[in-house]
Amino acid sequence: MSIYIDPDAVSRLRQYEMPGKLGFGRVIAPVMFRAVCQDGCWSRGELVPYTALSLDPAAKVLHYGQSCFEGLKAYRTPDDEVALFRPEKNAARMAYSAKRLCMSPVPESLFLDGVRTVALYCANLVPANSGESLYLRPFLMGTQADLTVSASASYMFYVIASPSEAYHAGNMRLWVERDDTRAAVGGTGDAKVGGNYAASLLSTGRLRERGYDQSLWLNPANRSSVDELSGMNFFAVMGEVLYTPALNGSILEGVTRASLIELARDRGYQVVEGEIHINELLKQVASGVCSEAFACGTAAIVSSISVIGDAGGSYRLSKAPGPVAQSLRQALLDIQEGRAEDRYGWMQLLGAITN
Ligand code: PMP
Repeated sequence: MSIYIDPDAVSRLRQYEMPGKLGFGRVIAPVMFRAVCQDGCWSRGELVPYTALSLDPAAKVLHYGQSCFEGLKAYRTPDDEVALFRPEKNAARMAYSAKRLCMSPVPESLFLDGVRTVALYCANLVPANSGESLYLRPFLMGTQADLTVSASASYMFYVIASPSEAYHAGNMRLWVERDDTRAAVGGTGDAKVGGNYAASLLSTGRLRERGYDQSLWLNPANRSSVDELSGMNFFAVMGEVLYTPALNGSILEGVTRASLIELARDRGYQVVEGEIHINELLKQVASGVCSEAFACGTAAIVSSISVIGDAGGSYRLSKAPGPVAQSLRQALLDIQEGRAEDRYGWMQLLGAITN
């Protein structure tokens, strides 16, 4: 299906002046992509000016949480082309999240049309410095207006974008969350749905008062093995072996996680996907066997962990990013920003940036 490009969206882009200071996720591009679905039939996609949404106050998303989202980045290559990193992985994950919430999934072709159209039309907003990118945020919600607890018959799909600086989150201080759990196995733990993030906020607030940055979530079923952070996957390095929690139904299958596992194995590291018992991990950190730990996700790519705090004390890791975290981060960024050969076929080149 062809995509409608609203001339007002094009003129908004022509008039747009990028602010000097970007931050992460704070500056929003002046256009957005949208499509609607009624009873399983999707409209064609449209690129329109960015504006507030009009929603019926009885819309199901506002009451019963039928909403899911994605996050991916468009990069500028050294030849001034705009490129996406593995967008079909995000399309598949969003379809999975949608199905878990009994929502009409966005067809892969429509999802890809959305992210490609926004990235291409906003090509001039893809920042040029290393680590910077155009962050793309696709999201889907149930809009049917009635208060019965049932799946919506109508949906809205949007893609908005944010020119962003590198997300600096190194030297993170994690707190082992032993009281709350985030998202269950058999529930929405492995889906990217708004409610999982809402459920993490109270814990984050508590630990910030204690001087920590992020919760380290334990598996809700056993309360003893490590799952992930609120928005990143977890890795621990012991010698030449990288350990990361297996995809157990309560952690999100990160695109960065999958990519780092491939890169690490190709660099000769052994990668073990399994259960990491928190008490065992803390023992290995204390004894120095665990030399480094890091978290990974689209926003920060790889972010080093300097402290893991628990009721019994504070366990310190190296302050600077360790050599494994640093080399994997650089290897991935070199592919994403087009400096290294893309042996994996991860990048999708969309076209040239005109100025
Ligand atoms: N876990 C959670 C809970 C997340 O929100 C994210 C960010 N999407 C990740 C892991 C990392 O996923 P990705 O590498 O695809 O960004």
